[in-house]
Amino acid sequence: MRTMIIAGNWKMYKDLQETTDLLTQLKAAVPRLPANVVSIVCPPYTSLHAAAAALSGSAFKLGAQNMSQHDEGAYTGEISGKMLKAVGCEYVILGHSERRQYFGETNELINQKAKKALALGLTPIVCVGESLQEREAGITGQIVTTQVKGTLSGIGPQEMTRIVIAYEPVWAIGTGRVATPEQAQEVHQIIRKQIAQLYDWALAERITIQYGGSVKPDNAADILTQNDVDGALVGGACLKADSFSAIIKAVKP
Ligand code: PEP
Repeated sequence: MRTMIIAGNWKMYKDLQETTDLLTQLKAAVPRLPANVVSIVCPPYTSLHAAAAALSGSAFKLGAQNMSQHDEGAYTGEISGKMLKAVGCEYVILGHSERRQYFGETNELINQKAKKALALGLTPIVCVGESLQEREAGITGQIVTTQVKGTLSGIGPQEMTRIVIAYEPVWAIGTGRVATPEQAQEVHQIIRKQIAQLYDWALAERITIQYGGSVKPDNAADILTQNDVDGALVGGACLKADSFSAIIKAVKP
């Protein structure tokens, strides 16, 4: 049985006070996480310190939404993995489709970031997913396997066991248009097969593959019960304690 990982990507929402308020409410809504669930909150950089303080003593883990591929240096506006570790992050989302779309992130860059995160002891949550155009052209499998291969290039089997993959169809992110449980399962299975080809089946069976894209309390259970779906990466619905906690509670014990 793989652990289910429910992560919240806060994107560019919540200032300091709002961060503390949301996490206070979340801790009250979920005083104890189910034994088979790991839950991560990924606030904006400016809220990480406050979030770490608010989460102290709780089972929720802290993650960031991005990081630099560099250790340090003259990279104005960037944040290093070392800084993320120092503030209490254990996870980092890499290659979110918004980073790919608006900031030109490529598989190669995401691969560099993933290697850097691993070297620093951070767990990368590597995002992959096809656009609507690509799905309609019938090339979803091809796109996703290319992304998986590119972002994991040169990562050895030992390090691979520490990677989380998030399948996020771009057409389902923030649109309210969720993939059907069958559509999610189909692509998750493709990804797991691809990992088995790149490494082996034993390793592929251990890898957590989250689904992301308009996951809400009313559709979470159906998606999370699919064989190869090992959790959710949640955007909009993680910004309220009641909806994020309901998604956590939708995981079958
Ligand atoms: C996301 O940003 O990763 C995401 C899945 O967003 P939403 O849940 O709002 O579709």
